Amino acid sequence: MSLPEMTAVVTGAGSRRGIGRATAHALAAAGWHVAALDLDGAVGTAEEVAAAHGVSALGLAADVTDPASLDAALAHVDAELPPVGALINNAGITSPTPFLEVTDEEWDRLFDVNVGGAFAITRRLLPGMMERGFGRVVFLSSVSAERGGGVFGGVGYSAAKAAQLGFARALAREVGPTGVTVNAVAPGLIDTDITGDALAGERGDALRAATPVGRFGQVSDVADVIVFLCREGAGYITGATYDVNGGSHIH
Ligand code: NAD
Repeated sequence: MSLPEMTAVVTGAGSRRGIGRATAHALAAAGWHVAALDLDGAVGTAEEVAAAHGVSALGLAADVTDPASLDAALAHVDAELPPVGALINNAGITSPTPFLEVTDEEWDRLFDVNVGGAFAITRRLLPGMMERGFGRVVFLSSVSAERGGGVFGGVGYSAAKAAQLGFARALAREVGPTGVTVNAVAPGLIDTDITGDALAGERGDALRAATPVGRFGQVSDVADVIVFLCREGAGYITGATYDVNGGSHIH
């Protein structure tokens, strides 16, 4: 990386098989220092990343829906790591609940984590990026937002992930002149814990067969695109949505 020493903050980076942890690794391999945030503290991710790539890495407990926990975690980032140059809004929850069975609480929770959480942390980290004249914000949306539901996401998930796309696009327009880019990645079926058993058995076989590249995605497929979007040389890409879906949704 030709950038000065900078930190990438990755939310939802604790999950062992998740996109967030893989992204923390990939960013560190590209030279970024890493703040890995998750409900459980993401200590495992931070230890692995530091050991594997020789960068500074902090694992921090943070619930993106809880302003106090975010403030506490980001105070550590501020005090202990180089300036933040990238934010990966990866923390997310899904739900397959059929629309008429979705409760107010479930609907609110889907929006609180996927949209409100991204708002809360982006709002906190953006001013520093703008002042320094460099920033990369990447949202983890979903193919579900684009095609209207997916395999494991219902209306609430699809709506929240679509909201992220509008969020990213409007913010990209607003902060473009400041050197901060804002993009979204829309993964298809990636083999992580969030997909549960949706990718197993006959159903999994049928889904795989319906995917042009003939396989499910790996976390590295998504992480590599995020690293690309965080490069200094990607500064002319903003407001974009990158599909990482094996061709399962071509539009
Ligand atoms: P995952 O469940 O392995 O990881 C999600 C992480 O978010 C977990 O570690 C979880 O603890 C964390 N999280 C949940 N609520 C949080 C909160 N309130 N505060 C902080 N962290 C919180 O799932 P994943 O597949 O790695 O998903 C990562 C992102 O990619 C999600 O936003 C998901 O919606 C999106 N996505 C995944 C797929 C897929 O097929 N796996 C497809 C499209 C989009």
